[in-house]
Amino acid sequence: MTMKPKAYDHQYGNYMNGKWLPVSKAGISSCNPADSTRQISVTSASTRADVDAAVAAAREAFPKWAALSMGQRAGLLEAWAKRAAERMDDLGRLVTDTMGKPLPEGKGDVLFANLSLEYNAAHARETQGEVFASAVPGKKTYTLRKPRGVAAVIGPWNFPAMIPIGWQAAPALAFGNTVVIKPSEDAPELVGEYVKIAEEVGFPPGVINVVFGEGPAAGEPLAAHPDVNVILFTGSSEVGRHLRHVTGHPRYHDKLFFGELGGKNGLVISAGCDYATALKAAWKSVTLTTNQRCVSASKVIVDRTLLPRFGEDLAELLSMAKIGYGGNPGVDMGPLINQDAVDKYTRHLDHGNTFWQETLLPGKVLREGEFEKGFFVSPALGLMEFAPDRDASPATAAPILTEEAFSPVVTLLPYSGNMAEAMTMLNATEYGLSSALISNDINEIQVFEQEAPGVKYINGATVAAEIHLPFVGEKGSNISGMPGNAGIVAAVTHSTPVSTFSLPNPTLAVSEEMEERVGKMVEKR
Ligand code: NAD
Repeated sequence: MTMKPKAYDHQYGNYMNGKWLPVSKAGISSCNPADSTRQISVTSASTRADVDAAVAAAREAFPKWAALSMGQRAGLLEAWAKRAAERMDDLGRLVTDTMGKPLPEGKGDVLFANLSLEYNAAHARETQGEVFASAVPGKKTYTLRKPRGVAAVIGPWNFPAMIPIGWQAAPALAFGNTVVIKPSEDAPELVGEYVKIAEEVGFPPGVINVVFGEGPAAGEPLAAHPDVNVILFTGSSEVGRHLRHVTGHPRYHDKLFFGELGGKNGLVISAGCDYATALKAAWKSVTLTTNQRCVSASKVIVDRTLLPRFGEDLAELLSMAKIGYGGNPGVDMGPLINQDAVDKYTRHLDHGNTFWQETLLPGKVLREGEFEKGFFVSPALGLMEFAPDRDASPATAAPILTEEAFSPVVTLLPYSGNMAEAMTMLNATEYGLSSALISNDINEIQVFEQEAPGVKYINGATVAAEIHLPFVGEKGSNISGMPGNAGIVAAVTHSTPVSTFSLPNPTLAVSEEMEERVGKMVEKR
């Protein structure tokens, strides 16, 4: 039986100091991108005043939360994950309905959020610092991790559970910070549901607070709030750069900004590769989440000797993609998130028509039958000769090679067997998030290891992150290196060095005269 895109009647007012507030009068409506007439939720359109109240609640709750033991906080994170796992079916479906990805990916988002809560709980139970050797006898220096205070969490819509809850809030909370979360207005419901679960399992009031609303109205006052100590931002490079600028003002002398940003990712297919691996890796890199992952690929750099066959084969595979409502079994690609995304797709098709020498698969906006009320598009593939004089510099390059795609518009770029040439094509972008190479040649692999930008995969797709692995982009894809769960502890804690000395302390050695005087003072006392 074919299922129809689901509608919901979720209402979320802001959550602060352990209380759900009523939804603001002019609420923000979020719809199902597979059928935009079906509403999923209405959330508050928060203002600066709401942000001030949420930050005040987080600030007040901070000392008590920070004073709990690591074990007490970790226990709450574990209970949160356990209860959310019991709701896997409804939460997974909610991901699909709010942002469009097929149900297995929707459940994957929930699974990753839960694994991340568990990972951070376990991480918090581990070693809390380091002990250093010293050149001075009797001196011992160790570091203690202190929470930074109030963390602002600003997340995107494409992983509506995993990123704001699992990746950003979980480590901040585990290490004793309190949080104010501003979820994406395009998919705010998963944060709403996860916070209800957090309340159920007993997180104290004020530890987790949520302000719903739009970026400039709610996100920006949150990031710039003088009482927010650290901002964990995941979203576009454009907004990330803007927020870094806003929050970098000297009046915020101790405010830290960490941003995981956009990508323009590529896959290199070498002549001697395993051909099936190349096709499958390209398929996954392009189609997962309808190319709306920060690590999705929109450039496939292919050895000239594999053409035209590789282009024809990839075009055939992409033409077979089953497009539809992600709640139905077997769907490969759901809709794009909204009309703006469809407009951007159309603009990229126009760029393709201008710059591609050959269109191997013409894409189009789908409007008939089951697609009528959604934001569905089909994949597009074109072949283009890289022009080094123009394309090697992001300032002059064809826009189809520089703008983040976030829709399945893909360019094949032939190279002539020289890995240095392929690396130029891969690096000709302001981004540096994820790269893949399909090759069995160790020399090529070693060049790729050194020169490809961002997170690197060999004989895999550009899409294969795991909770416990470092994940960190370069160049315009990252600000201040927020390296995934594995390294985020450095962002949410301050590592304080402490030195102790056994007596007598050799670093307090003074002149004989001074020694004598001090001795007399001690005698008199
Ligand atoms: P976005 O930058 O438009 O929005 C992200 C968040 O920032 C949203 O909550 C939004 O409301 C808020 N925001 C917007 N303007 C703001 C402002 N002026 N001040 C404060 N907050 C503001 O991004 P998006 O469309 O939600 O998500 C897609 C983008 O996220 C893509 O560029 C994608 O590559 C990136 N992304 C990156 C990663 C990563 O790990 N590097 C992961 C997922 C998504």
